[in-house]
Amino acid sequence: PFEVLVVGGGPAGAAAAVYAARKGIRTGVAAERFGGQVLDTMAIENFISVPHTEGPQFATALEQHVKQYEVDIMNLQTAERLTQHGDHFEIALASGATLKSKTVILSTGARWRQMGVPGEEQYRNKGVAYCPHCDGPLFKGKRVAVIGGGNSGVEAAIDLAGIAQHVTLIEFDAKLRADDVLQRKLKSLPNVTILTSAKTTEVKGDGSKVNGLVYESRVTGEIHTIALEGIFVQIGLLPNTEWLKGTIELSPRGEIIVDQHGQTSLPGVFAAGDCTTTPYKQIVIALGEGAKASLAAFDHLIRSSAP
Ligand code: FAD
Repeated sequence: PFEVLVVGGGPAGAAAAVYAARKGIRTGVAAERFGGQVLDTMAIENFISVPHTEGPQFATALEQHVKQYEVDIMNLQTAERLTQHGDHFEIALASGATLKSKTVILSTGARWRQMGVPGEEQYRNKGVAYCPHCDGPLFKGKRVAVIGGGNSGVEAAIDLAGIAQHVTLIEFDAKLRADDVLQRKLKSLPNVTILTSAKTTEVKGDGSKVNGLVYESRVTGEIHTIALEGIFVQIGLLPNTEWLKGTIELSPRGEIIVDQHGQTSLPGVFAAGDCTTTPYKQIVIALGEGAKASLAAFDHLIRSSAP
């Protein structure tokens, strides 16, 4: 059996694996797609000390760093079940195999909920964006829309209003759902237009980048087109934790509840990165949390093997 088994091979999982391996303990990583969300990213400009890199290049660097150590990397493996058996845990994989380990670090990440409208996929990273902290500066002086009037959408619109020339916030419902204080702030900004009861129906582009957004008024049924350069989709970040329901404690949003050591509700099972309740889903944060969960797992191993 492994001493530390990491499930998920994004930044959090890679950091956890490196930290565990450096303790000289038997470490494995099972990942559906080693690299994680970073593989879908173009420019990364907020990984401190590296002013600019590209997602796939960063993912390769993560893997190379892990491979410097004796880590058993099992790529293209999907975990389907976590169970406890006395002093160890078992992870059942979709392939039918079962992995045993004394501790587990869950780092299965998350995925952005998509609008599912024509043009969204085609123009992803070509004007369609999901992370204002990451891609906001690319739209300096340009016109953008934010889809979604919950807290994250309204926060994104406030953030982008300080960078972009103009922001249109589009909400499907008749009113915004964000906290009052955020709504008041948003409404005080001169370069923001708020549209409610508006259903986004299409992302338009010139073949290489976004140049417009089409929406339908849910009141009048009229179709409108807005000319713009960027669209930030803020309709939810879904943690990849469906398979853990009923096994460990999850928040109402499905995030794994962790304490400040990355410990979950099941002693010996830790979690890190975008799949957890830790706020602000970013690479630097996922890396730090992965390292922390790994050190906490090591601590747990020392204590549980004491005579
Ligand atoms: P992830 O990167 O999501 O990795 C999860 C891992 O778990 C993957 O290997 C996945 O295959 C695996 N997995 C999932 N389910 C299972 C399962 N059941 N069994 C086994 N393995 C599983 N952040 C920044 O800091 N800067 C940026 O510029 C930036 N740009 C971004 C652009 C885009 C388009 C996106 C989508 C995200 C961006 N982010 C950026 C956010 C950043 O990518 C994430 O915060 C970070 O990748 C989270 O790392 P993670 O390890 O927690 O999860």
